[in-house]
Amino acid sequence: MNLFEQLGIGPKTVQAITELGFEAPTPIQEQAIPELLKGNRDFVGLAQTGTGKTAAFGLPMLELINLDLRQPQALVLCPTRELCLQITNDLVNFSKYLGQVNVVAVYGGASIINQMRDLKRGAHIIVATPGRMLDIINRNVINFDNVKISVLDEADEMLNMGFQEDINSILSHTPDTKNTWLFSATMPNEVRRISQNYMTDPFELTVGNRNEGNANIEHEYYVAKARDKYAAFKRLVDFNPEIFGIVFCRTKIETQEIAEALIRDGYNADALHGDLSQQQRDKVMKRYRDRSLQLLIATDVAARGIDVNDVTHVINYSLPDDVESYTHRSGRTARAGKTGVSMAIVNSKEMGKIRQIERIIKKKFTKCDIPNGFDVCEKQLFALIHKVHNVQLNDQIDQYLERINAEFADVSKEDIIKRFASLEFNRFLDYYKNAPDLNARVDEREGRERVGERGERGERHTMRGGAGKFTRLFVNLGSLDDFTRGDMLRYICDNAHVSGSKIGRIDVKGVYSFFEIESDNVDKIFEGFKSKDFNGRQVRVEISQDGDRKREERRSGFGGGERRSFGGNREGGNREGGERRSGGFGGNRERNGERSDRGDRGGRGGFGGGNRERRPSSSEDKRGRW
Ligand code: AMP
Repeated sequence: MNLFEQLGIGPKTVQAITELGFEAPTPIQEQAIPELLKGNRDFVGLAQTGTGKTAAFGLPMLELINLDLRQPQALVLCPTRELCLQITNDLVNFSKYLGQVNVVAVYGGASIINQMRDLKRGAHIIVATPGRMLDIINRNVINFDNVKISVLDEADEMLNMGFQEDINSILSHTPDTKNTWLFSATMPNEVRRISQNYMTDPFELTVGNRNEGNANIEHEYYVAKARDKYAAFKRLVDFNPEIFGIVFCRTKIETQEIAEALIRDGYNADALHGDLSQQQRDKVMKRYRDRSLQLLIATDVAARGIDVNDVTHVINYSLPDDVESYTHRSGRTARAGKTGVSMAIVNSKEMGKIRQIERIIKKKFTKCDIPNGFDVCEKQLFALIHKVHNVQLNDQIDQYLERINAEFADVSKEDIIKRFASLEFNRFLDYYKNAPDLNARVDEREGRERVGERGERGERHTMRGGAGKFTRLFVNLGSLDDFTRGDMLRYICDNAHVSGSKIGRIDVKGVYSFFEIESDNVDKIFEGFKSKDFNGRQVRVEISQDGDRKREERRSGFGGGERRSFGGNREGGNREGGERRSGGFGGNRERNGERSDRGDRGGRGGFGGGNRERRPSSSEDKRGRW
């Protein structure tokens, strides 16, 4: 007998989850399912995402629902739209063979009319974010009289996000006789209070230790000076050619800046944060899930609950404010029994935070060196060789083989291999030639950096200097045409055939935008947009008058000359001699005193070009407690 059947799950559901690859229950499923199936008790489960908790409540929920009654019988509340869609999707998958189970997702940022229409058709299960659920309740279009199960998923996070009153209000519309199942990664007093207010003698279950991380995650840290952080980060990405990662930043601004810098540097990255519209967030998430994005740059809130399989690395570009967030972040990798790496790039003053995390997650970090240029080249070379070895052969090449063989008639096999490898290797070697050591030496006892005697500063200076003048252009397309800054960047690059590194600041307004382009590329822009149409409208590009800009800056609140986003001190940046700027942050970065990230290059994220794309968009600032 199947292990899930032994727990009491029906054969049709077992068939569906078997097809999803569920062979054996996870610990929380094993313990929760039999208890929840009884359908007569409240429940508190202390468990992180990644433990299989959705199935732990979803499977018994499906067993307990009366499919003949087309009325809401279960209500799942969760903090974010992403999680809402994920849970809905899981429930739909689990119930594939049960017949007509109607699961309706209710969340903000999408048409409330459509959602109400779906609800009127008769939902068995509603999965909702609290704000939108309350909106719908207030329109008197829903009847919760038959609700027998309410689930509060990621309760701690819902409370963090200020949903307490909404939850109270929603639950007051449900019958007292229902059972409440609460899941939370942590049990702060507020959550404890909810469990006391809404539950009677709940069955309590803790899976793993409160904050204890997943045993399959390796934790690593790298020490770099603040000004070398971006360069160090790129090294780590380049050193892991097969990376499929989530990169966490502390603020929306930082998230946006890093994503844009990466895009400019030719990486396949995009940003996910709360300033994006729901549509934009969906688009980004779809691309990430489809793996057409390699790096997702995210804030904690936006990435909450994201369940994407096979994330290889979580990179803490900045450490979070608290250890709980670190656990949430690292839990995006090593899901469903896989392994993963959680990396933190820290400065020497942050060693205390690392030690604090270690104490709480009860796992040691490994201190690793930021790879040097040679190591990166070697890693990339072998990734290429491996790729060549495993590539699917294309039969269409056959017709050219004779000519190709003739061309190589005088070259040995060894030489051919060498030539193919050199083709890509030379380029990478070029990027990494003279790449400085980015490791900041740390004296742990003193917790201070020892500045390299090798004159790192000197090296840095040689990388800067020179001039790259920018011209500001106006274009009659903007956010009302659905352009984000990233879309605009891509649109310009694609049409004018210029590299993203030639483009400076982009300001997307309602029906128009401004962008900077290195002055010697202005003609390419005019050429590229000559007789160009966008949705039947002639695209118009003009050189912007300085007055336009001042007006814009006044309107948008940018103080005289200060630039929050990168692209600031352009005059100071060296963009010549084939050197690739390692990506932005040239502006006055007041927040942390960082200036340009300077010397490291490594522009393209890997050999072979890959499908590097462009896109993203803008700001958040949070608490600070350690
Ligand atoms: P969750 O904690 O519910 O977000 O689940 C984490 C991931 O584990 C999801 O991708 C699930 O599809 C997967 N999963 C859950 N239960 C099992 C299981 N018993 N066997 C294999 N994968 C599972």
